[in-house]
Amino acid sequence: GHRKVLEENRKLYNLLQDLKGNIRVYCRVRPQKINTPTPVLIEDDHITIITPSKYSKEGRKSFRFNKVFGPSATQEEVFSDMQPLIRSVLDGYNVCIFAYGQTGSGKTHTMTGPKELTEESRGVNYRALNDLFHMSEARRETFSYEISVQMMEIYNEQVRDLLATGGINKKLEIRSSSQKGGLAVPDANVVPVSTTSEVIELMTLGHKNRAVSFTAINDRSSRSHSCLTVHVQGRDLVSGTVLRGSMHLVDLAGSERVDKSEAKGECLKEATYINKSLSALGDVIASLAQKNSHVPYRNSKLTQLLQDSLGGQAKTLMFVHISPEYDAVGESLSTLKFAERVATVELGAAHVNKDGTEVKELKKQLANLKAQLAMKE
Ligand code: ADP
Ligand code: MG
Repeated sequence: GHRKVLEENRKLYNLLQDLKGNIRVYCRVRPQKINTPTPVLIEDDHITIITPSKYSKEGRKSFRFNKVFGPSATQEEVFSDMQPLIRSVLDGYNVCIFAYGQTGSGKTHTMTGPKELTEESRGVNYRALNDLFHMSEARRETFSYEISVQMMEIYNEQVRDLLATGGINKKLEIRSSSQKGGLAVPDANVVPVSTTSEVIELMTLGHKNRAVSFTAINDRSSRSHSCLTVHVQGRDLVSGTVLRGSMHLVDLAGSERVDKSEAKGECLKEATYINKSLSALGDVIASLAQKNSHVPYRNSKLTQLLQDSLGGQAKTLMFVHISPEYDAVGESLSTLKFAERVATVELGAAHVNKDGTEVKELKKQLANLKAQLAMKE
Protein backbone atom coordinates (compact mmCIF):
# COMPACT_ATOMS: atom_id res chain seq x y z
CA GLY A 1 0.00 0.00 0.00
CA HIS A 2 1.01 3.49 0.90
CA ARG A 3 4.25 2.55 2.63
CA LYS A 4 5.47 0.53 -0.32
CA VAL A 5 4.82 3.37 -2.76
CA LEU A 6 6.68 5.71 -0.41
CA GLU A 7 9.61 3.35 -0.27
CA GLU A 8 9.79 2.88 -4.02
CA ASN A 9 9.52 6.60 -4.49
CA ARG A 10 12.44 7.09 -2.14
CA LYS A 11 14.58 4.49 -3.86
CA LEU A 12 13.97 5.96 -7.29
CA TYR A 13 14.58 9.44 -6.03
CA ASN A 14 17.91 8.41 -4.56
CA LEU A 15 18.91 6.72 -7.77
CA LEU A 16 18.04 9.83 -9.71
CA GLN A 17 20.01 11.99 -7.32
CA ASP A 18 23.02 9.72 -7.56
CA LEU A 19 22.99 9.94 -11.31
CA LYS A 20 22.87 13.70 -11.10
CA GLY A 21 25.65 13.85 -8.55
CA ASN A 22 25.46 15.19 -5.03
CA ILE A 23 26.47 18.73 -5.81
CA ARG A 24 24.13 21.09 -7.55
CA VAL A 25 24.70 24.72 -8.38
CA TYR A 26 21.96 27.25 -9.00
CA CYS A 27 22.79 30.77 -10.11
CA ARG A 28 20.57 33.74 -9.29
CA VAL A 29 20.82 37.28 -10.67
CA ARG A 30 19.08 39.95 -8.59
CA PRO A 31 17.07 42.82 -10.13
CA GLN A 32 18.78 46.12 -10.90
CA LYS A 33 18.28 49.05 -8.55
CA ILE A 34 17.99 51.46 -11.46
CA ASN A 35 17.39 50.49 -15.02
CA THR A 36 20.72 50.72 -16.85
CA PRO A 37 22.38 48.54 -19.48
CA THR A 38 23.48 45.27 -17.90
CA PRO A 39 26.41 43.03 -18.75
CA VAL A 40 24.51 39.90 -17.71
CA LEU A 41 22.68 37.75 -20.23
CA ILE A 42 20.65 34.69 -19.29
CA GLU A 43 19.53 31.92 -21.57
CA ASP A 44 18.12 28.71 -20.11
CA ASP A 45 20.83 27.26 -17.88
CA HIS A 46 23.54 29.57 -19.22
CA ILE A 47 24.70 32.89 -17.90
CA THR A 48 26.93 35.15 -19.96
CA ILE A 49 28.92 38.12 -18.71
CA ILE A 50 29.95 40.81 -21.15
CA THR A 51 33.31 42.19 -20.15
CA PRO A 52 33.72 45.75 -21.31
CA SER A 53 36.93 46.57 -23.04
CA LYS A 54 38.13 50.06 -23.79
CA TYR A 55 40.65 49.09 -26.41
CA SER A 56 39.38 46.14 -28.36
CA LYS A 57 36.15 44.27 -28.96
CA GLU A 58 34.21 43.45 -25.83
CA GLY A 59 34.59 39.91 -24.54
CA ARG A 60 32.00 37.39 -23.40
CA LYS A 61 32.30 34.61 -20.91
CA SER A 62 29.58 31.98 -20.51
CA PHE A 63 28.92 29.55 -17.68
CA ARG A 64 26.46 26.73 -17.32
CA PHE A 65 24.82 25.56 -14.10
CA ASN A 66 22.01 23.24 -13.06
CA LYS A 67 19.74 26.26 -13.13
CA VAL A 68 19.99 29.97 -13.73
CA PHE A 69 17.35 32.29 -12.26
CA GLY A 70 16.93 35.76 -13.72
CA PRO A 71 15.93 38.98 -11.93
CA SER A 72 12.21 38.28 -12.28
CA ALA A 73 12.33 34.85 -10.61
CA THR A 74 10.16 34.79 -7.49
CA GLN A 75 11.08 33.24 -4.13
CA GLU A 76 8.54 30.54 -4.89
CA GLU A 77 10.09 29.71 -8.26
CA VAL A 78 13.57 29.56 -6.77
CA PHE A 79 12.34 27.07 -4.18
CA SER A 80 10.02 25.17 -6.47
CA ASP A 81 12.05 22.05 -7.22
CA MET A 82 13.87 21.79 -3.91
CA GLN A 83 11.26 19.54 -2.32
CA PRO A 84 13.07 16.27 -3.05
CA LEU A 85 16.20 17.65 -1.45
CA ILE A 86 14.28 18.71 1.64
CA ARG A 87 12.48 15.39 1.75
CA SER A 88 15.77 13.52 1.83
CA VAL A 89 16.49 15.11 5.24
CA LEU A 90 13.47 13.20 6.58
CA ASP A 91 15.00 10.06 5.07
CA GLY A 92 18.13 10.53 7.16
CA TYR A 93 20.34 12.40 4.73
CA ASN A 94 22.51 15.37 5.52
CA VAL A 95 21.98 18.38 3.33
CA CYS A 96 23.88 21.64 2.93
CA ILE A 97 22.46 24.67 1.20
CA PHE A 98 24.77 27.65 0.70
CA ALA A 99 24.35 31.18 -0.52
CA TYR A 100 27.55 32.50 -2.10
CA GLY A 101 28.27 35.86 -3.71
CA GLN A 102 29.58 39.36 -3.17
CA THR A 103 27.93 41.65 -0.62
CA GLY A 104 24.69 43.08 -2.02
CA SER A 105 24.18 40.31 -4.58
CA GLY A 106 21.12 38.80 -2.87
CA LYS A 107 22.34 36.01 -0.55
CA THR A 108 20.21 37.05 2.41
CA HIS A 109 17.28 37.68 0.09
CA THR A 110 17.44 34.08 -1.13
CA MET A 111 17.96 32.47 2.26
CA THR A 112 15.83 34.70 4.49
CA GLY A 113 14.02 37.32 2.40
CA PRO A 114 13.70 41.10 2.58
CA LYS A 115 13.52 42.98 5.90
CA GLU A 116 9.75 43.30 5.77
CA LEU A 117 8.79 39.65 5.40
CA THR A 118 5.56 38.57 3.79
CA GLU A 119 4.51 35.02 3.14
CA GLU A 120 5.41 35.46 -0.52
CA SER A 121 8.81 37.00 0.09
CA ARG A 122 9.97 34.38 2.56
CA GLY A 123 13.24 32.78 1.60
CA VAL A 124 14.58 29.25 1.45
CA ASN A 125 15.05 28.90 5.24
CA TYR A 126 11.36 29.32 6.03
CA ARG A 127 10.18 27.38 3.04
CA ALA A 128 12.48 24.45 3.80
CA LEU A 129 11.33 24.22 7.40
CA ASN A 130 7.73 24.65 6.39
CA ASP A 131 8.09 21.76 3.95
CA LEU A 132 9.71 19.62 6.64
CA PHE A 133 6.77 20.28 8.95
CA HIS A 134 4.26 19.38 6.26
CA MET A 135 6.04 16.29 4.98
CA SER A 136 6.62 14.93 8.47
CA GLU A 137 2.97 15.51 9.24
CA ALA A 138 1.97 13.61 6.10
CA ARG A 139 4.02 10.65 7.30
CA ARG A 140 2.79 10.66 10.86
CA GLU A 141 1.16 7.26 10.54
CA THR A 142 4.48 5.61 9.75
CA PHE A 143 7.07 7.90 11.35
CA SER A 144 7.33 10.08 14.40
CA TYR A 145 9.58 13.09 13.78
CA GLU A 146 11.29 15.58 16.04
CA ILE A 147 12.65 18.73 14.44
CA SER A 148 14.94 21.22 16.16
CA VAL A 149 17.19 24.08 15.11
CA GLN A 150 20.44 25.78 16.04
CA MET A 151 21.61 29.10 14.68
CA MET A 152 25.26 29.98 14.68
CA GLU A 153 27.64 32.52 13.33
CA ILE A 154 31.27 32.21 12.32
CA TYR A 155 33.14 35.46 12.57
CA ASN A 156 36.93 35.68 12.39
CA GLU A 157 37.17 31.90 12.80
CA GLN A 158 35.11 31.93 15.99
CA VAL A 159 31.79 30.17 16.39
CA ARG A 160 29.01 31.85 18.36
CA ASP A 161 25.48 30.85 19.27
CA LEU A 162 22.90 33.24 17.83
CA LEU A 163 20.14 31.63 19.88
CA ALA A 164 21.95 32.04 23.18
CA THR A 165 19.70 33.63 25.73
CA GLY A 166 22.47 35.22 27.80
CA GLY A 167 24.37 37.06 25.04
CA ILE A 168 26.34 35.60 22.19
CA ASN A 169 29.86 36.39 23.20
CA LYS A 170 30.84 32.94 24.34
CA LYS A 171 33.08 31.17 21.81
CA LEU A 172 32.00 27.63 21.05
CA GLU A 173 33.95 24.50 20.22
CA ILE A 174 33.27 22.27 17.24
CA ARG A 175 33.37 18.57 17.95
CA SER A 176 34.91 16.10 15.57
CA SER A 177 32.50 14.34 13.31
CA SER A 178 33.39 10.88 14.62
CA GLN A 179 30.76 11.25 17.33
CA LYS A 180 27.92 9.79 15.34
CA GLY A 181 24.52 11.15 16.02
CA GLY A 182 26.02 13.83 18.24
CA LEU A 183 25.93 17.52 17.54
CA ALA A 184 28.86 19.29 15.92
CA VAL A 185 28.35 22.21 18.31
CA PRO A 186 26.82 20.69 21.45
CA ASP A 187 27.02 23.92 23.43
CA ALA A 188 24.86 25.93 21.05
CA ASN A 189 21.23 26.11 22.08
CA VAL A 190 19.04 23.48 20.37
CA VAL A 191 15.43 24.57 20.09
CA PRO A 192 12.58 22.21 19.14
CA VAL A 193 10.27 23.66 16.48
CA SER A 194 7.04 22.55 14.93
CA THR A 195 5.52 25.62 13.34
CA THR A 196 6.69 28.35 10.98
CA SER A 197 5.80 31.06 13.46
CA GLU A 198 8.17 29.51 16.01
CA VAL A 199 10.88 29.56 13.37
CA ILE A 200 10.19 33.20 12.54
CA GLU A 201 10.46 34.08 16.24
CA LEU A 202 13.82 32.32 16.53
CA MET A 203 15.19 33.88 13.36
CA THR A 204 14.20 37.29 14.69
CA LEU A 205 16.10 36.59 17.91
CA GLY A 206 19.07 35.34 15.90
CA HIS A 207 19.17 38.40 13.68
CA LYS A 208 18.86 40.66 16.68
CA ASN A 209 21.73 38.90 18.46
CA ARG A 210 23.82 39.21 15.35
CA ALA A 211 23.19 42.92 15.01
CA VAL A 212 23.50 43.87 18.69
CA SER A 213 26.78 42.45 19.76
CA PHE A 214 28.98 44.23 17.24
CA THR A 215 27.67 47.73 16.82
CA ALA A 216 31.20 48.98 16.27
CA ILE A 217 31.67 47.12 13.04
CA ASN A 218 29.22 48.48 10.62
CA ASP A 219 28.26 45.72 8.26
CA ARG A 220 28.94 42.69 10.33
CA SER A 221 26.45 40.50 8.53
CA SER A 222 28.47 40.66 5.33
CA ARG A 223 31.71 39.78 7.13
CA SER A 224 30.50 36.63 8.87
CA HIS A 225 28.89 33.34 7.90
CA SER A 226 25.54 32.56 9.45
CA CYS A 227 24.25 29.04 9.68
CA LEU A 228 20.79 27.76 10.50
CA THR A 229 21.11 24.07 11.31
CA VAL A 230 18.06 21.84 11.30
CA HIS A 231 18.17 18.50 13.08
CA VAL A 232 15.61 15.87 12.23
CA GLN A 233 15.10 12.67 14.11
CA GLY A 234 12.58 10.19 12.78
CA ARG A 235 11.45 6.98 14.41
CA ASP A 236 9.85 4.28 12.32
CA LEU A 237 6.70 3.43 14.27
CA VAL A 238 6.76 -0.19 13.17
CA SER A 239 10.41 -1.24 13.29
CA GLY A 240 11.53 1.33 15.86
CA THR A 241 14.49 2.28 13.66
CA VAL A 242 15.72 5.81 14.22
CA LEU A 243 16.88 7.97 11.32
CA ARG A 244 18.84 11.16 11.79
CA GLY A 245 19.08 13.81 9.11
CA SER A 246 20.33 17.34 9.19
CA MET A 247 20.29 20.42 7.06
CA HIS A 248 22.62 23.40 7.16
CA LEU A 249 21.32 26.59 5.59
CA VAL A 250 24.28 28.90 5.24
CA ASP A 251 24.38 32.59 4.36
CA LEU A 252 28.07 32.99 3.62
CA ALA A 253 30.19 36.09 4.16
CA GLY A 254 30.56 38.36 1.13
CA SER A 255 33.00 36.83 -1.34
CA GLU A 256 34.44 40.12 -2.59
CA ARG A 257 38.19 40.35 -2.66
CA VAL A 258 39.58 43.01 -0.41
CA ASP A 259 42.62 44.87 -1.68
CA LYS A 260 45.24 43.75 0.80
CA SER A 261 47.38 46.80 0.17
CA GLU A 262 44.53 49.04 1.33
CA ALA A 263 42.80 47.06 4.06
CA LYS A 264 44.24 47.58 7.51
CA GLY A 265 43.75 46.33 11.06
CA GLU A 266 40.38 44.74 11.71
CA CYS A 267 39.37 44.85 8.03
CA LEU A 268 42.46 43.04 6.92
CA LYS A 269 41.95 40.39 9.59
CA GLU A 270 38.32 39.88 8.52
CA ALA A 271 39.23 39.72 4.86
CA THR A 272 41.96 37.19 5.50
CA TYR A 273 39.62 34.92 7.49
CA ILE A 274 36.86 35.20 4.90
CA ASN A 275 39.16 34.39 2.00
CA LYS A 276 40.56 31.50 3.95
CA SER A 277 37.20 29.95 4.84
CA LEU A 278 35.63 30.42 1.41
CA SER A 279 38.58 28.91 -0.36
CA ALA A 280 38.63 26.09 2.21
CA LEU A 281 34.99 25.44 1.34
CA GLY A 282 35.80 25.38 -2.37
CA ASP A 283 38.73 23.03 -1.73
CA VAL A 284 36.59 20.63 0.30
CA ILE A 285 33.79 20.48 -2.25
CA ALA A 286 36.18 20.09 -5.16
CA SER A 287 38.15 17.41 -3.36
CA LEU A 288 34.95 15.50 -2.55
CA ALA A 289 33.81 15.70 -6.13
CA GLN A 290 37.17 14.33 -7.29
CA LYS A 291 36.79 11.57 -4.70
CA ASN A 292 40.16 12.37 -3.16
CA SER A 293 41.06 10.24 -0.18
CA HIS A 294 42.08 13.25 1.89
CA VAL A 295 39.46 15.97 2.27
CA PRO A 296 40.85 19.13 3.93
CA TYR A 297 38.01 19.80 6.37
CA ARG A 298 40.31 21.07 9.11
CA ASN A 299 41.40 24.15 7.21
CA SER A 300 38.55 26.33 8.46
CA LYS A 301 35.83 26.50 11.10
CA LEU A 302 33.22 26.62 8.36
CA THR A 303 34.25 23.30 6.82
CA GLN A 304 34.64 21.73 10.27
CA LEU A 305 31.14 22.80 11.19
CA LEU A 306 29.72 21.36 7.99
CA GLN A 307 31.89 18.26 7.84
CA ASP A 308 29.09 15.74 8.39
CA SER A 309 26.99 17.39 5.74
CA LEU A 310 29.64 17.54 3.06
CA GLY A 311 30.71 14.36 1.36
CA GLY A 312 29.60 10.76 1.68
CA GLN A 313 25.88 10.51 1.17
CA ALA A 314 25.36 14.21 1.86
CA LYS A 315 23.77 16.47 -0.70
CA THR A 316 24.91 19.98 -1.43
CA LEU A 317 23.15 22.82 -3.18
CA MET A 318 24.95 26.07 -3.76
CA PHE A 319 23.20 29.26 -4.81
CA VAL A 320 25.62 31.65 -6.45
CA HIS A 321 24.49 35.24 -6.59
CA ILE A 322 25.28 37.80 -9.23
CA SER A 323 24.77 41.57 -9.17
CA PRO A 324 23.61 42.79 -12.59
CA GLU A 325 25.64 46.01 -12.74
CA TYR A 326 28.70 46.78 -14.85
CA ASP A 327 30.78 47.74 -11.85
CA ALA A 328 30.28 44.24 -10.45
CA VAL A 329 31.71 42.47 -13.50
CA GLY A 330 35.04 41.65 -11.86
CA GLU A 331 33.41 40.11 -8.79
CA SER A 332 30.78 38.37 -10.91
CA LEU A 333 33.45 36.66 -12.96
CA SER A 334 35.32 35.50 -9.88
CA THR A 335 32.07 34.27 -8.28
CA LEU A 336 31.18 32.33 -11.42
CA LYS A 337 34.65 30.83 -11.63
CA PHE A 338 34.38 29.66 -8.03
CA ALA A 339 30.98 28.14 -8.80
CA GLU A 340 32.26 26.53 -11.97
CA ARG A 341 35.10 24.93 -10.05
CA VAL A 342 32.65 23.50 -7.55
CA ALA A 343 30.16 22.38 -10.18
CA THR A 344 32.08 21.13 -13.18
CA VAL A 345 34.18 18.54 -11.45
CA GLU A 346 31.06 16.58 -10.70
CA LEU A 347 29.09 17.54 -13.77
CA GLY A 348 32.03 16.89 -16.09
CA ALA A 349 32.23 13.12 -16.18
CA ALA A 350 28.74 12.30 -15.02
CA HIS A 351 27.23 14.88 -17.30
CA VAL A 352 26.94 12.63 -20.33
CA ASN A 353 24.33 10.66 -18.52
CA LYS A 354 22.48 13.60 -17.13
CA ASP A 355 19.81 13.95 -19.76
CA GLY A 356 20.20 10.49 -21.20
CA THR A 357 17.37 8.05 -21.61
CA GLU A 358 18.13 6.37 -18.32
CA VAL A 359 17.40 9.50 -16.36
CA LYS A 360 14.36 10.29 -18.47
CA GLU A 361 12.95 6.86 -17.77
CA LEU A 362 13.58 7.25 -14.04
CA LYS A 363 11.95 10.66 -14.07
CA LYS A 364 8.89 9.17 -15.71
CA GLN A 365 8.64 6.44 -13.11
CA LEU A 366 9.12 8.97 -10.34
CA ALA A 367 6.32 11.14 -11.73
CA ASN A 368 4.04 8.11 -11.86
CA LEU A 369 4.80 7.18 -8.29
CA LYS A 370 4.23 10.75 -7.17
CA ALA A 371 0.84 10.78 -8.85
CA GLN A 372 -0.08 7.52 -7.12
CA LEU A 373 1.11 8.94 -3.85
CA ALA A 374 -0.89 12.16 -4.31
CA MET A 375 -4.03 10.11 -4.90
CA LYS A 376 -3.48 8.17 -1.72
CA GLU A 377 -2.79 11.16 0.52
P1 ADP B 1 23.65 40.06 0.39
O1 ADP B 1 23.03 39.29 1.51
O2 ADP B 1 24.26 39.20 -0.66
O3 ADP B 1 24.58 41.12 0.87
P2 ADP B 1 20.97 41.11 0.07
O4 ADP B 1 20.19 39.86 0.06
O5 ADP B 1 20.97 41.90 1.33
O6 ADP B 1 22.48 40.84 -0.40
O7 ADP B 1 20.47 41.99 -1.16
C1 ADP B 1 20.85 43.33 -1.38
C2 ADP B 1 19.61 44.16 -1.70
O8 ADP B 1 19.00 43.73 -2.90
C3 ADP B 1 18.56 44.07 -0.61
O9 ADP B 1 17.92 45.31 -0.52
C4 ADP B 1 17.61 43.03 -1.17
O10 ADP B 1 16.31 43.19 -0.64
C5 ADP B 1 17.67 43.26 -2.65
N1 ADP B 1 17.47 42.02 -3.41
C6 ADP B 1 18.35 41.02 -3.53
N2 ADP B 1 17.89 40.03 -4.30
C7 ADP B 1 16.66 40.40 -4.69
C8 ADP B 1 15.66 39.80 -5.49
N3 ADP B 1 15.83 38.60 -6.09
N4 ADP B 1 14.51 40.48 -5.69
C9 ADP B 1 14.33 41.68 -5.12
N5 ADP B 1 15.23 42.30 -4.35
C10 ADP B 1 16.39 41.68 -4.12
MG1 MG C 1 23.44 39.42 3.56
